[in-house]
This record gives sequence, structure tokens and C-alpha cells, in this order.
Amino acid sequence: MSVHPREQISSLPAYRPGKSAPIKLASNENPNAPLPSVIEAIAIAAGGINRYPDNGASALVDALCAKYDVKPEQVAYGCGSVTVCEQIIQGYAGDGDNVVHAWRSFEAYPLITEIVGVGAHRIPLREHTHDLDAMLAAIDDRTRVVIVCNPNNPTGTAVGEEELTAFLDAVPSHVLVVLDEAYTEYVADGSVPDGVRLMRGRPNVCVLRTFSKAYGLAGLRVGYLIAEDPAVAEVVRKTMMPFSVSSIAQAAAVASLEADAELRERVTETVAERDRVSTALRELGHEIPDSHANFVWLPLGEQTDEVAARLAASGIMGRPFSGEGMRVTIGSREENDALIAALTP
Ligand code: PMP
Repeated sequence: MSVHPREQISSLPAYRPGKSAPIKLASNENPNAPLPSVIEAIAIAAGGINRYPDNGASALVDALCAKYDVKPEQVAYGCGSVTVCEQIIQGYAGDGDNVVHAWRSFEAYPLITEIVGVGAHRIPLREHTHDLDAMLAAIDDRTRVVIVCNPNNPTGTAVGEEELTAFLDAVPSHVLVVLDEAYTEYVADGSVPDGVRLMRGRPNVCVLRTFSKAYGLAGLRVGYLIAEDPAVAEVVRKTMMPFSVSSIAQAAAVASLEADAELRERVTETVAERDRVSTALRELGHEIPDSHANFVWLPLGEQTDEVAARLAASGIMGRPFSGEGMRVTIGSREENDALIAALTP
């Protein structure tokens, strides 16, 4: 007799590392090198790595409390916000339960629901944007969690304050709403809400954020959750494997919060580049939806593979979704110029 994995796991595709390319615009990373102050904090933390990290990440939690004006019991952190998202699903949904989320959206959501072994209602986007009415209608008595990815990966679109508030008011109070705001720092449009503000006074709402994008620490894996109800943050703390976030990552995250102003300037540059790239690609005939993140979406449909191959021939790697479109990350000015040139006939 041989050993058998669970059925959901057997049917999952195995991870295949993507091919590298000179210009990588595939993972929504920050094109800037880490700040000197962050590298210094990492070097100091490196001197203590014979010890396990602080499992309560007290310096990081305190810094987040100061940033958001919340209490430590409302904060939880983990090995990237993707892992925090998985912990939330593990903590709230079990056999026979389901999660509602938009599709296409962040690729990890189906992975998480499959691995955890819960059902999912994946609600098609409408005009590249979350269809909140349809998501609301999909909630049934076994729905435990609804995820709203705002701005949405991979389309860059965002739902506005009025629409999201009406949705939050309508979601039954036994359903936890997760506002995945991995790209929130890139939002420049005042009508797109700050989830932490909307969360206040709503015990069934929590917000996921990350140090991987605007804070430029993708390689270190730190994300966090802010919840109105401390019980939600407690679930994330309970489902975290001990010592999931290294002391180096914790120190870098704290140093990045201290350098908030400097990092915001970089975000402003990326936002200006995003607008420049969007305009240039629209002039080339692409119908780019308004992006509120550090990437743009090219709805290429059946031409997706062909365009991805053309970019690859120019040494550029985007993130194609065959038959649907391609997401391209906003890189440095030179990288963006190369992208525009490669897409110019
Ligand atoms: N949420 C969304 C919408 C994302 O696009 C990503 C990263 N691609 C994450 C969460 C995860 O970020 P991390 O695990 O690096 O914190």
C-alpha cells in the first residue's frame, strides 16, 4: 500500500519556478533597492540570529499600533499577508463552509481554499472590477469569509467608498469580511477608501496589509492584519506557527515604518510612472482599466500568449493569464520605457 495525499492536494498543480528575465515585471515588486536605514537595521538584527525571534513581535506591533491608532490586541502579523489570509480561512472556515471572493483576483485565494479544504464561490469581475452585488447575493448560510481585494490583483481596479460601505452594511454579521489591501499605499484617488477607517465600528471586518510592496520587503515575508474585533486578530495569532517571522524581517519592518516618509516618496514616483505607462499603452490601443496599484492590466484576451512571447523576446517578463490578459508591474523608469518600446509595433 502506498501513502496518498488528500484529494484536493493531489489535484493542485505543483509549483514551477518561472523563467527569469533581465526585466522582471511579473510579481508587483518594488523596483527600488532597500533604504540604507533598513539595511542597517537588518545588519544589527543579524548579530542576534542565534536566538529565535520575538514571537510577539512587540516592536513591530507597537509601531503598527502607533501608525493606525489601534490596540496591540487588534493586530496580528505573519509570514507575508498571504499566510495571514490562509490563517484567517483556516481559523474561520471548516468542512462544508465556503469563502466568497472575486475572480479573477489574487491567485492565492483558490490555492488557500483548496489547501484548507473549504468551498469557494468565485464571483466573476464586472468590467474588471469586483461585482459586490453578485458577491453579496452569493453569500449563503455556510459562508464564513468574504474577501474583497481592493485594489484588485491583477486588474488594478478598486471599489469606491460608497459602494464598499453599502456592501459592508449589507453583509450578515456572522460573515467575516477581509479587505485585502496589499496595494493600498498606491491609491491616489480619494474616492477609494482606507479599509482601516471603514473597519472602525464593524466587528466583522478586518484588513490585510503587507510590507512586500510599497515598503519594498518582498524578500523578507512580513504581512499583518488589523481587526476591529480583537478576537479576529487572536485567531491569526493562534493559527500562526511559532517564530514564523524572522528577527531580521521584524527589524526591517520596524525600520521601514520609521522611514515612512522616504518610502512614500518612492510610492509617489511609482504612481506617476503608472499613470505615464497607462497613458502610453492606451495610446497604443490597449484598453487599460484605471489602476490604483503598482501594476497595470492589459485585457488582451486571445492575444495574451502572443504578446507575452513578444515581451519575452525583448527580455521582459510580465504575468500573462492565457486567454484573459496580462498584468505588468510598474518598474523603474528605464524598465517602463523598455516595456512601452516592446509593445510599440
Ligand atoms: N494580497 C494580494 C492582493 C497580493 O497581490 C499579494 C502579493 N502578490 C499578497 C496579498 C501577498 O503579499 P505578501 O504575502 O508578500 O505579504
